[in-house]
Amino acid sequence: MSRLVIISNRVAPIAEGKASSGGLAVAVLEALKKAGGGIWFGWSGEVLAETQSEPNLFRTGKIEYATIDLSIRDHDEYYNGYANATLWPLFHYRLDLTEFSRRTYSGYLRVNALFASRLAPLVEAEDRLWVHDYHLIPLAEELRKIGLSTPMGFFLHTPFPVPEILVALPNHATLMRSLCAYDLIGFQTNADRDAFVHYLVVEAGAEMLSEKLFRVHGRTIRVEAFPISIETEDIVKLSAQAEKARQAERLRESLKGSELIIGVDRLDYSKGLPERLLAFQALLDNYAGNRGHVTLMQIAPPTRSDVAEYQEIRQTLESLAGHINGAFAEFDWVPIRYLNKSFSRRNLLGFFRAAKIGLVTPLRDGMNLVAKEFVAAQDPADPGVLILSRFAGAASELSCGALIVNPYDIEGVAENLQRALSMPAEERRERYDAMIEVLSHNNIDVWRQRFVDALDQAPYTDSV
Ligand code: UDP
Repeated sequence: MSRLVIISNRVAPIAEGKASSGGLAVAVLEALKKAGGGIWFGWSGEVLAETQSEPNLFRTGKIEYATIDLSIRDHDEYYNGYANATLWPLFHYRLDLTEFSRRTYSGYLRVNALFASRLAPLVEAEDRLWVHDYHLIPLAEELRKIGLSTPMGFFLHTPFPVPEILVALPNHATLMRSLCAYDLIGFQTNADRDAFVHYLVVEAGAEMLSEKLFRVHGRTIRVEAFPISIETEDIVKLSAQAEKARQAERLRESLKGSELIIGVDRLDYSKGLPERLLAFQALLDNYAGNRGHVTLMQIAPPTRSDVAEYQEIRQTLESLAGHINGAFAEFDWVPIRYLNKSFSRRNLLGFFRAAKIGLVTPLRDGMNLVAKEFVAAQDPADPGVLILSRFAGAASELSCGALIVNPYDIEGVAENLQRALSMPAEERRERYDAMIEVLSHNNIDVWRQRFVDALDQAPYTDSV
């Protein structure tokens, strides 16, 4: 059996067994374990004065980890710069926050070339490469320059913007040309795939060979949607146990009978957190009977705190939460519990199960695994309600049972909060049944297998 070589920006948190708050990391480790082993290559998370010349190698079981440390300059230009201050906002439709700089673009290309030069000696002819996310778009092209002809697949965990947004990127043609050096290109949703296909045809002059195959820049590539998912069965089981864990018990006791609305998001401007707090304020304003009886617990661990926009969103939220609490709190009730730290998934599952509503309202999100985890964590006999943004990738699978909202429509979200709070148990169960059915069919194993099967068919010649 040929090995799977996974390449993603970060490796370290998983390799060291630490809890990670990234959906990507959780999913990738699972995929690698299930594939029966291979290599996981990426940045160690360490920033040194000089970029280190040889990868750090270590093995646990059948998985070999190969990590490289980055220099301060590489980290600044590649990670904080082009990846997180250019591509992340652009792919999340935030042109207003997108920085364009030739300096960071060249740093991004330099680090991709560095990854390629360190990775190439570890790759065997029979291996298949699965590259993850927007940090590593040019990696395949760099590997091909070195002479690697192994099948290479790329999966984008973020949304992919429509061409009208993408063409604002000064180097879009070069960047997209390098993306076409992969054999297989996977997206979270059909809408993301369609946006890329539209770009390929209109901007890159691609020829459509079949529904999934395209001829472009002298190569045949396969383009498909693979919606990422969760370990549904495990989460269902774990949540029933987590309900009895000490932290979940303490949470329920502290609520003293008031209903819990829960939000769990990295502290990121794409997650719609200010709009969410305003919607909760509108609930208390417009449906005053909820005062004293409903609590919003928003868990928001900070990320990317070197990037200015992330410092700003943190300040905005702190002041908004303080303002709303100041306006509504009573001596025995505080409306918003705003927690700027991360929790283990086990604790989160217990919290999800204690909640009446999961409030997931990103302004744009590739998938949003929290939405799926919230559903899987519910008690089937007395499930909570998922309120989900139409702009989360998860909405394309969960619209069968979630209350779908537009996060910009503050009053509309408040209305849906009220609807969820008063929803009869029978309707809650029907909605839960519809969603859990979807999640049991598309779990993380199905996602991994679909991608790996598609990659196994590369290079593509016939129509698929
Ligand atoms: N997560 C966690 N602890 C936290 C917050 C989040 O373990 O305190 C996990 C969460 O359970 C989910 C992932 O981090 O599995 C977040 O993935 P999602 O797709 O929702 O968002 P992303 O962070 O990838 O944008």
